[in-house]
Amino acid sequence: MSSDEWIESGMSTFANVYWEPESGTESIIPLGLAKSTKSVTHGAEHAEDVVLRIIDDNLSLFAEGGHRNHLTFTLTKSPCTSTARPNPAGGGTLPTTSSKTVGCTEELIDLVTNGRTAGGKSYSFRLSIICRGLYTPSVAGATQGAVLAASKAAVDAMVATGHITISGDVRAAPSAARFEVE
Ligand SMILES: [Zn+2]
Repeated sequence: MSSDEWIESGMSTFANVYWEPESGTESIIPLGLAKSTKSVTHGAEHAEDVVLRIIDDNLSLFAEGGHRNHLTFTLTKSPCTSTARPNPAGGGTLPTTSSKTVGCTEELIDLVTNGRTAGGKSYSFRLSIICRGLYTPSVAGATQGAVLAASKAAVDAMVATGHITISGDVRAAPSAARFEVE
């Protein structure tokens, strides 16, 4: 299957990563296409894991120091979360939606909060994420409504950092979006 066919199939999450330098004549530089993968080297990865690996592999490209390098990427589903956040609808906590110890939401928050250091240099980032729909996996013991609320709360937590914007088709019923006319 080609990348285009794979994306069309909607089988899993993918991300296109772009870097927008603040200066120079090049406006947007594509850094790579990331898919969720299962490989011998890296095990099961979500698209965001691959995005982070692309960023880490390209650190020397970016501006150093306090300047926040602006990265844009698209995701088919909003990032999973390993944090059980308070339920705004009254009492208790929302479920976690990640099978990983550290969810993609938490990894992305860490990226913009702590940046990266390599070779004695530090790099800072801000992210623009374009997302087709909220992540709604089946979570044992949780209703789909609670899972949806958890994914929405994860999006809100990323936006609350002040360095992540999330836009696009984040809507209540991502499965319904597939047949809409754009
Ligand atoms: Zn994830």
